[in-house]
Amino acid sequence: MAGEIEEIRARINIVDLVSQRVQLKKTGKNYQGLCPFHDDKRPSFTVNPVVGRYRCWSCGETGDIFNWVMKTQNVPFAEALQLLAAQAGVELTNRPNPQERSERALHLEIMEEALKFFREQLSKSSTAQDYLTRRGIDESTIAEWELGYAPDVGEALAVHLRKKAYALSVCRSLFLVEEDASGGYYDKFRGRLMFPIRDERGDLVAFGGRVLGDGVPKYINSSDTPVYRKSRVLYGLNRALGHISRMKPRQAVLCEGYLDVIACHRAGVKGAVASLGTALSEDHAKLLARWSDEVVILYDADAAGQKAAERAIEVLRPEKVQLRVALMPPGEDPDTLLRSQGPVAIENAVKGATLPTEFKLDQVIASHAEKGQAFWAAVVDVIAQASHIAEMERHIERVVSQYSGVEDQLYLRESIRKQVLTRRRSTKQSMQEEYRPVPAIQFTVSALQPAEATLIACLPTRHLRVIAHEALSLPELFLSEVGRAFSGEYARIFEDNPPEGEISVWLSRLSEPMQDLVDQCVSDPRFSQLDERFVKDSVGKLEKELQKRRLQFIKKGADSDRLKQIEQTLRKLKGERDSN
Ligand SMILES: [Zn+2]
Repeated sequence: MAGEIEEIRARINIVDLVSQRVQLKKTGKNYQGLCPFHDDKRPSFTVNPVVGRYRCWSCGETGDIFNWVMKTQNVPFAEALQLLAAQAGVELTNRPNPQERSERALHLEIMEEALKFFREQLSKSSTAQDYLTRRGIDESTIAEWELGYAPDVGEALAVHLRKKAYALSVCRSLFLVEEDASGGYYDKFRGRLMFPIRDERGDLVAFGGRVLGDGVPKYINSSDTPVYRKSRVLYGLNRALGHISRMKPRQAVLCEGYLDVIACHRAGVKGAVASLGTALSEDHAKLLARWSDEVVILYDADAAGQKAAERAIEVLRPEKVQLRVALMPPGEDPDTLLRSQGPVAIENAVKGATLPTEFKLDQVIASHAEKGQAFWAAVVDVIAQASHIAEMERHIERVVSQYSGVEDQLYLRESIRKQVLTRRRSTKQSMQEEYRPVPAIQFTVSALQPAEATLIACLPTRHLRVIAHEALSLPELFLSEVGRAFSGEYARIFEDNPPEGEISVWLSRLSEPMQDLVDQCVSDPRFSQLDERFVKDSVGKLEKELQKRRLQFIKKGADSDRLKQIEQTLRKLKGERDSN
């Protein structure tokens, strides 16, 4: 698969692709035109054939050939892949064969027929309609979310599907009917409000059924079937995707159940999704990470909700998304909150979401009545998980100023800081390695020092890339936060050797914001005439600054040997420069 994607990147010229929809004119190295994503008066949209990306300098829309097809044709990645593979003449190996495809088509057809049946039943059932009215769910919401009703009859759906000439054994494999001892079939869902569950492409793959009133079980969800893997489908994602992709940063809101998702969407929080009848899985986390930059976990405030939130944090932590946690006010869920306090209350809950470490710190504070040794040990545990220095310092400041006597503050601050850093060293995490782009940071070329931007701008040219590689792999060398973040990621991905081959092919190994940053640096006219000398000078400048910083740091401490060594290096650097 990865090889095929690279092959497609190598074969498709992004200028040709974009030109199918936008009139482009060559200006310098780039091509320019009117942005198709906003009402553009003067050309602010550029396509960079070198790095294989497009960018609007006005509305900020960016991406590569796959994003282009997904955005302009409004299709999911899998479909964009097929379209581009066809254009590039690349054969995709793991395409379903015709027989499998027709089987899936039949399964989806049966699911749609079942939905049609459930929707008809809802329009006939005053009990179900009354229930929805009481919960404040109106006609348009019912239509939008295709809600239905499974009558409490026993075999109503089975009879209907048989009449439509579908084999009930197949319907059974789709979790719609069950076989009894005498070989007859009865309905899986009876007397339940029905929620169709569509995957991100919009295919109807499962159902969730909620009992009307207080019966048990409260919810029944389809178990895994030939068309449904519950660990891979997020409820509401097909509806949320369009909204998520238009947000900056792209924000998804993770809820606990379908009524929560619907309530969020009604409240205008349209990036809401939920994992259904199952805890958040690694596949769910990957799905979220593919479509969003930030995930807000919006769970109930009760003990079960807090536990689920903790688990979700752990599952999402390895992914490249910014995490935030929002808990509902005690005793509320999004559905009840919407009814009691209106849409603003949900919006506020999402806006007030905190970082995972903040959420955990709150828990530690609440669970330790006595702010003694055990409390401070737990505090260190949590703060050691901070993703950058500023976050660590903020937490230390908060607990120290609130929970210690004035006279111990100085000592306590130092002591916590030391313990946190020791803890992280022992678990082999440095602040740098763990750095994640926080949405508040703008990854723009203007946030970089010119010397830093030079090193990034030379990436397309192989012999310059070789010179810059070592410096690019050393985050410490960079002065700006954006530069350090770029370097941290670059070092992680291209460990020992500079990347080989066309940049348009390997660039996508970096994250979206970093790819965009490369595009910006390469497109910047200040760095259009790079040569060896220029790149080496930039490395030299950054090295000198680093030595200065080290010197300042050591002067504060008193490591005189180290001090002499650095002063020597500085003199040597200066000597080299003067003799040049
Ligand atoms: Zn634009």
